[in-house]
Amino acid sequence: MAWIERFAPSPTGPLHLGHAFSALTAWDRAVAYSGEFLLRIEDIDQSRCRPHWEQQIFEDLEWLGIRWPKPVLRQSKRLRSYQYVIKTLWDKGLVYPCTCSRRDIAEAARAPQEDAPLLGPDGVVYPGTCRKQSAEDLPENAALRLDLRAAMKADIFRFEETGLHSGSVEFSADEAIETIGDIVLARRDMGTSYHLSVVLDDAFQGVTHVTRGEDLFEATKIHVILQKLLGLPTPTYHHHRLIRDENGKRLAKRDDARAISKYRAEGATPEDIRRIVGL
Ligand code: GLU
Repeated sequence: MAWIERFAPSPTGPLHLGHAFSALTAWDRAVAYSGEFLLRIEDIDQSRCRPHWEQQIFEDLEWLGIRWPKPVLRQSKRLRSYQYVIKTLWDKGLVYPCTCSRRDIAEAARAPQEDAPLLGPDGVVYPGTCRKQSAEDLPENAALRLDLRAAMKADIFRFEETGLHSGSVEFSADEAIETIGDIVLARRDMGTSYHLSVVLDDAFQGVTHVTRGEDLFEATKIHVILQKLLGLPTPTYHHHRLIRDENGKRLAKRDDARAISKYRAEGATPEDIRRIVGL
Protein backbone atom coordinates (compact mmCIF):
# COMPACT_ATOMS: atom_id res chain seq x y z
CA MET A 1 0.00 0.00 0.00
CA ALA A 2 1.28 3.49 -0.84
CA TRP A 3 2.16 5.45 2.29
CA ILE A 4 2.84 9.14 1.84
CA GLU A 5 3.31 11.35 4.89
CA ARG A 6 3.97 15.07 4.98
CA PHE A 7 5.14 17.75 7.35
CA ALA A 8 3.73 21.17 6.48
CA PRO A 9 5.17 24.01 8.54
CA SER A 10 4.63 27.73 8.01
CA PRO A 11 7.89 29.72 7.94
CA THR A 12 6.67 32.31 10.44
CA GLY A 13 9.04 31.51 13.30
CA PRO A 14 11.46 28.91 14.60
CA LEU A 15 10.50 25.25 14.82
CA HIS A 16 10.18 24.17 18.44
CA LEU A 17 9.98 20.83 20.25
CA GLY A 18 6.33 20.38 19.25
CA HIS A 19 7.25 20.65 15.57
CA ALA A 20 10.15 18.25 16.10
CA PHE A 21 7.77 15.73 17.65
CA SER A 22 5.29 16.07 14.80
CA ALA A 23 7.90 15.90 12.03
CA LEU A 24 9.73 12.96 13.63
CA THR A 25 6.47 11.06 14.22
CA ALA A 26 5.54 11.46 10.54
CA TRP A 27 9.09 10.59 9.44
CA ASP A 28 9.28 7.48 11.65
CA ARG A 29 5.94 6.28 10.33
CA ALA A 30 7.03 6.81 6.72
CA VAL A 31 10.24 4.86 7.39
CA ALA A 32 8.44 2.07 9.28
CA TYR A 33 5.96 1.54 6.44
CA SER A 34 8.52 1.99 3.63
CA GLY A 35 6.64 5.09 2.61
CA GLU A 36 7.55 8.55 1.46
CA PHE A 37 7.96 11.72 3.50
CA LEU A 38 7.22 15.11 1.93
CA LEU A 39 7.94 18.58 3.20
CA ARG A 40 5.54 21.34 2.20
CA ILE A 41 6.05 25.00 2.97
CA GLU A 42 2.74 26.62 3.94
CA ASP A 43 3.49 30.22 3.08
CA ILE A 44 0.14 31.64 1.96
CA ASP A 45 0.32 34.34 4.62
CA GLN A 46 3.11 36.28 2.95
CA SER A 47 2.87 39.07 5.49
CA ARG A 48 4.19 36.71 8.20
CA CYS A 49 6.49 34.35 6.30
CA ARG A 50 10.24 35.02 6.04
CA PRO A 51 12.94 33.31 3.92
CA HIS A 52 15.27 32.94 6.90
CA TRP A 53 12.65 30.94 8.81
CA GLU A 54 12.25 28.70 5.81
CA GLN A 55 16.03 28.18 5.66
CA GLN A 56 16.07 27.34 9.33
CA ILE A 57 13.27 24.79 8.88
CA PHE A 58 15.42 22.99 6.28
CA GLU A 59 18.46 23.05 8.54
CA ASP A 60 16.60 21.91 11.68
CA LEU A 61 14.87 19.02 9.91
CA GLU A 62 18.06 17.82 8.21
CA TRP A 63 19.84 17.97 11.54
CA LEU A 64 17.09 15.82 13.04
CA GLY A 65 17.88 13.22 10.38
CA ILE A 66 14.81 13.82 8.22
CA ARG A 67 15.09 13.69 4.40
CA TRP A 68 12.60 14.73 1.71
CA PRO A 69 12.44 15.13 -2.08
CA LYS A 70 13.47 18.51 -3.44
CA PRO A 71 12.39 21.04 -4.55
CA VAL A 72 9.67 21.34 -1.94
CA LEU A 73 6.12 22.42 -2.75
CA ARG A 74 5.43 26.00 -1.71
CA GLN A 75 1.82 27.04 -1.29
CA SER A 76 2.59 30.56 -2.52
CA LYS A 77 3.18 28.98 -5.97
CA ARG A 78 -0.23 27.32 -5.97
CA LEU A 79 -2.53 30.33 -5.70
CA ARG A 80 -3.97 29.88 -9.19
CA SER A 81 -5.06 26.33 -8.40
CA TYR A 82 -6.74 27.44 -5.19
CA GLN A 83 -8.51 30.26 -6.99
CA TYR A 84 -9.68 27.99 -9.76
CA VAL A 85 -11.41 25.77 -7.19
CA ILE A 86 -12.95 28.76 -5.42
CA LYS A 87 -14.32 29.92 -8.77
CA THR A 88 -15.96 26.54 -9.44
CA LEU A 89 -17.62 26.64 -6.01
CA TRP A 90 -18.63 30.24 -6.60
CA ASP A 91 -20.22 29.28 -9.94
CA LYS A 92 -22.24 26.64 -8.10
CA GLY A 93 -23.54 29.28 -5.68
CA LEU A 94 -21.80 27.71 -2.68
CA VAL A 95 -19.65 30.70 -1.81
CA TYR A 96 -20.62 34.18 -0.69
CA PRO A 97 -18.73 37.39 0.05
CA CYS A 98 -18.43 38.43 3.68
CA THR A 99 -17.40 41.86 4.91
CA CYS A 100 -17.76 41.21 8.63
CA SER A 101 -14.90 42.15 10.92
CA ARG A 102 -13.94 39.95 13.84
CA ARG A 103 -15.77 42.34 16.11
CA ASP A 104 -18.96 42.25 13.94
CA ILE A 105 -18.89 38.47 14.19
CA ALA A 106 -18.39 38.41 17.95
CA GLU A 107 -21.22 40.91 18.44
CA ALA A 108 -23.66 39.20 16.10
CA ALA A 109 -22.88 35.82 17.64
CA ARG A 110 -23.52 37.10 21.15
CA ALA A 111 -26.92 38.71 20.49
CA PRO A 112 -29.68 38.05 21.26
CA GLN A 113 -29.11 35.28 23.77
CA GLU A 114 -26.29 37.10 25.57
CA ASP A 115 -24.48 33.83 26.14
CA ALA A 116 -20.82 33.37 25.37
CA PRO A 117 -20.55 32.85 21.60
CA LEU A 118 -20.00 29.31 20.36
CA LEU A 119 -16.37 28.64 19.50
CA GLY A 120 -15.42 26.48 16.52
CA PRO A 121 -12.06 25.49 15.02
CA ASP A 122 -11.54 29.03 13.66
CA GLY A 123 -12.84 31.01 16.62
CA VAL A 124 -16.40 32.26 17.00
CA VAL A 125 -18.79 30.23 14.81
CA TYR A 126 -19.92 32.59 12.05
CA PRO A 127 -23.58 33.56 12.62
CA GLY A 128 -24.29 33.86 8.87
CA THR A 129 -24.76 37.63 8.70
CA CYS A 130 -23.63 37.98 5.06
CA ARG A 131 -25.09 34.71 3.77
CA LYS A 132 -27.88 36.51 1.95
CA GLN A 133 -25.48 38.98 0.33
CA SER A 134 -25.92 38.95 -3.43
CA ALA A 135 -22.93 37.47 -5.22
CA GLU A 136 -23.47 39.97 -8.07
CA ASP A 137 -22.38 43.00 -6.13
CA LEU A 138 -19.17 41.52 -4.79
CA PRO A 139 -17.86 44.11 -2.37
CA GLU A 140 -14.22 44.97 -2.64
CA ASN A 141 -12.09 43.54 0.10
CA ALA A 142 -14.49 40.77 1.02
CA ALA A 143 -13.58 37.39 2.39
CA LEU A 144 -15.29 34.43 0.71
CA ARG A 145 -17.21 31.99 2.87
CA LEU A 146 -18.52 28.54 2.10
CA ASP A 147 -22.25 28.11 2.64
CA LEU A 148 -21.69 24.97 4.68
CA ARG A 149 -25.28 23.77 4.68
CA ALA A 150 -25.57 24.06 0.90
CA ALA A 151 -22.15 22.42 0.47
CA MET A 152 -22.90 19.28 2.50
CA LYS A 153 -22.47 16.20 0.33
CA ALA A 154 -23.44 13.67 2.99
CA ASP A 155 -25.45 13.36 6.21
CA ILE A 156 -22.68 11.51 7.99
CA PHE A 157 -18.94 11.96 7.48
CA ARG A 158 -16.26 9.45 8.44
CA PHE A 159 -12.50 9.27 8.53
CA GLU A 160 -9.99 6.72 9.73
CA GLU A 161 -7.85 7.72 12.67
CA THR A 162 -4.80 5.88 13.99
CA GLY A 163 -3.77 8.35 16.69
CA LEU A 164 -5.36 9.56 19.91
CA HIS A 165 -8.92 9.08 18.62
CA SER A 166 -8.09 5.63 17.30
CA GLY A 167 -10.74 4.04 15.12
CA SER A 168 -13.31 5.35 12.73
CA VAL A 169 -14.38 8.92 13.55
CA GLU A 170 -17.92 9.84 12.59
CA PHE A 171 -19.73 13.15 12.70
CA SER A 172 -22.98 14.40 11.24
CA ALA A 173 -23.56 17.24 8.80
CA ASP A 174 -25.98 18.87 11.27
CA GLU A 175 -23.39 18.79 14.03
CA ALA A 176 -20.79 20.35 11.71
CA ILE A 177 -23.16 23.09 10.56
CA GLU A 178 -23.75 24.00 14.17
CA THR A 179 -20.25 23.70 15.57
CA ILE A 180 -18.15 24.78 12.58
CA GLY A 181 -20.34 27.13 10.58
CA ASP A 182 -19.59 28.85 7.26
CA ILE A 183 -15.81 28.71 7.04
CA VAL A 184 -13.68 31.23 5.20
CA LEU A 185 -12.40 29.75 1.92
CA ALA A 186 -10.54 32.86 0.83
CA ARG A 187 -9.24 35.46 3.22
CA ARG A 188 -9.41 38.99 1.87
CA ASP A 189 -5.65 39.46 2.10
CA MET A 190 -4.64 36.07 0.68
CA GLY A 191 -7.18 34.85 -1.87
CA THR A 192 -7.19 31.46 -0.15
CA SER A 193 -7.27 29.95 3.33
CA TYR A 194 -5.41 27.36 5.36
CA HIS A 195 -8.28 24.85 5.10
CA LEU A 196 -8.70 25.01 1.34
CA SER A 197 -4.97 25.02 0.56
CA VAL A 198 -4.17 22.13 2.86
CA VAL A 199 -6.95 19.97 1.42
CA LEU A 200 -6.02 20.70 -2.19
CA ASP A 201 -2.32 20.16 -1.59
CA ASP A 202 -2.70 16.92 0.34
CA ALA A 203 -4.66 15.58 -2.64
CA PHE A 204 -2.29 17.10 -5.21
CA GLN A 205 0.70 15.48 -3.50
CA GLY A 206 -1.05 12.13 -3.06
CA VAL A 207 -0.74 12.26 0.74
CA THR A 208 -2.23 9.10 2.22
CA HIS A 209 -1.43 9.69 5.92
CA VAL A 210 -1.66 13.01 7.73
CA THR A 211 0.19 13.17 11.04
CA ARG A 212 -0.68 16.30 13.03
CA GLY A 213 -1.29 17.61 16.55
CA GLU A 214 -4.57 17.02 18.34
CA ASP A 215 -5.16 20.79 18.30
CA LEU A 216 -6.16 20.28 14.65
CA PHE A 217 -8.68 17.51 15.35
CA GLU A 218 -11.72 19.78 14.83
CA ALA A 219 -10.11 21.34 11.75
CA THR A 220 -9.73 17.84 10.30
CA LYS A 221 -13.53 17.64 10.18
CA ILE A 222 -13.55 20.73 7.92
CA HIS A 223 -10.97 19.05 5.71
CA VAL A 224 -13.03 15.88 5.42
CA ILE A 225 -16.12 17.91 4.44
CA LEU A 226 -14.10 19.77 1.79
CA GLN A 227 -12.64 16.54 0.44
CA LYS A 228 -16.12 15.14 -0.06
CA LEU A 229 -17.35 18.36 -1.64
CA LEU A 230 -14.43 18.47 -4.07
CA GLY A 231 -14.38 14.74 -4.85
CA LEU A 232 -10.94 14.23 -3.28
CA PRO A 233 -9.75 11.20 -1.33
CA THR A 234 -9.66 11.39 2.48
CA PRO A 235 -6.28 10.40 3.91
CA THR A 236 -5.95 8.44 7.15
CA TYR A 237 -5.33 10.82 10.06
CA HIS A 238 -3.04 10.42 13.04
CA HIS A 239 -3.61 13.09 15.69
CA HIS A 240 -0.83 13.04 18.24
CA ARG A 241 -0.43 14.47 21.73
CA LEU A 242 0.91 18.00 22.06
CA ILE A 243 4.22 18.93 23.62
CA ARG A 244 3.56 21.29 26.50
CA ASP A 245 5.64 23.50 28.74
CA GLU A 246 5.96 22.94 32.48
CA ASN A 247 2.69 24.82 33.04
CA GLY A 248 0.84 22.53 30.68
CA LYS A 249 0.61 25.17 27.96
CA ARG A 250 0.99 24.14 24.34
CA LEU A 251 4.25 25.41 22.84
CA ALA A 252 3.89 28.34 20.45
CA LYS A 253 6.20 29.80 17.81
CA ARG A 254 7.26 32.54 20.18
CA ASP A 255 8.55 29.92 22.63
CA ASP A 256 12.11 30.59 21.52
CA ALA A 257 13.40 28.84 24.61
CA ARG A 258 12.28 25.57 23.07
CA ALA A 259 13.44 26.31 19.55
CA ILE A 260 15.31 23.40 17.99
CA SER A 261 18.00 25.82 16.84
CA LYS A 262 18.62 26.79 20.44
CA TYR A 263 19.09 23.18 21.52
CA ARG A 264 21.43 22.71 18.56
CA ALA A 265 23.47 25.78 19.50
CA GLU A 266 23.77 24.46 23.04
CA GLY A 267 25.26 21.20 21.80
CA ALA A 268 22.24 18.89 22.05
CA THR A 269 22.07 15.92 19.69
CA PRO A 270 19.05 14.75 17.66
CA GLU A 271 18.85 11.81 20.10
CA ASP A 272 18.50 14.31 22.95
CA ILE A 273 15.56 15.92 21.17
CA ARG A 274 13.92 12.52 20.67
CA ARG A 275 14.37 11.75 24.33
CA ILE A 276 12.95 15.12 25.46
CA VAL A 277 9.80 14.71 23.37
CA GLY A 278 9.39 11.08 24.35
CA LEU A 279 10.23 9.28 21.12
N1 GLU B 1 0.83 24.77 8.43
C1 GLU B 1 0.07 24.07 9.42
C2 GLU B 1 0.75 24.20 10.77
O1 GLU B 1 1.92 24.52 10.83
C3 GLU B 1 -0.07 22.65 8.93
C4 GLU B 1 -0.65 21.69 9.84
C5 GLU B 1 -1.48 20.61 9.14
O2 GLU B 1 -2.28 20.91 8.27
O3 GLU B 1 -1.31 19.44 9.47
O4 GLU B 1 0.10 24.08 11.80
